[in-house]
Amino acid sequence: MKQVTALALFSGGLDSILASRLVASLGVRVLAVKFVTPFFDYELLADPEGYQQEVMEKYGLEVVLYDLSHNYLDLLHKPAHGFGKNFNPCIDCKILMCSRAKELMAKYDASFLISGEVLGQRPMSQRRDTLRVIERDSDNDGLLLRPLSAKLMSPTKPETEGWIDREKLLDFNGRGRSRQIKLAKEYGITDFPSPAGGCILADPILSPRIARIYKGEFVINPEEITVTDVRLLLVGRQFLLPDGFWLILGRNEKENEKIETLAEANDMLLYMPDRPGPTALLRGAKQRLSESDGIEDTLLKCAGLVVRYGKKVKGEDPGAEVVIRGQGGKRKITSQPLDDKIFREWML
Ligand code: SF4
Repeated sequence: MKQVTALALFSGGLDSILASRLVASLGVRVLAVKFVTPFFDYELLADPEGYQQEVMEKYGLEVVLYDLSHNYLDLLHKPAHGFGKNFNPCIDCKILMCSRAKELMAKYDASFLISGEVLGQRPMSQRRDTLRVIERDSDNDGLLLRPLSAKLMSPTKPETEGWIDREKLLDFNGRGRSRQIKLAKEYGITDFPSPAGGCILADPILSPRIARIYKGEFVINPEEITVTDVRLLLVGRQFLLPDGFWLILGRNEKENEKIETLAEANDMLLYMPDRPGPTALLRGAKQRLSESDGIEDTLLKCAGLVVRYGKKVKGEDPGAEVVIRGQGGKRKITSQPLDDKIFREWML
């Protein structure tokens, strides 16, 4: 008989690893599908082969990466099932991933889907009724097997078709992790990420920034938010200037380099040529030069911030020259450090 294939929705967390391994142990070929967006795990796209190798070595699983950014940026405008405690649209996020995974089934000749969801583990997205909604709204009725809680749920196609023995599936329930840890030991898995996860939309510090850009508080049009905007939101010191301009300052050399790499045609860059300090990016500033009478004042504020966070030399004038790149070439202005009292409220 031909071996049946299943696609696993693979977050990289312990539950998804265990669900995949359990189904693989029952004779099914499991291909893990890892979705990334700028809100979680985007950096994996820089080295997909490295990630594949790591997942194979650590967990014995084949994995493929898919970038879901485009759909995800749209989804955040108005998720049908709302947000969780932060800016996390967990139910719609899962519906989107399950829908996309279903579309991929034909490509990989897969017969069903797996997810590591555990009944009652999370208040919003893993209640019995919500799990049902995810299945229904992603058009996966009967196709989505949750092996870790399957015995507590209605049988799915792989069970009724006899591809999988329902008796070998599990009945995990609730928030406790002890059964997962025990199972991981049985599989010889010791190195796995903590359950807190890496989704920025659920992060109480970072997610309000994302909510504000979506509310239109920045010079960016919310309908035109890009992957680069989100990536910039997550690097360095962030300032929302009184006129709506958005300034990002690197906190170290690595962040300065990242900011330079992310700069686009309409952005302006500022830095001190003669002193160590931040590289600053004024987002979308070139495009708005003609629209704003106060651009000169804005640039002075930005230069003052660059000098404020730059290295001071004891006994020397704290003022410094700042290069502004992007106004049809380069120019220099001299600036004193901006007083903390002036900019405290601009910090995001
Ligand atoms: S925490 Fe983030 S990645 Fe996980 S379901 Fe919620 S929105 Fe999606």
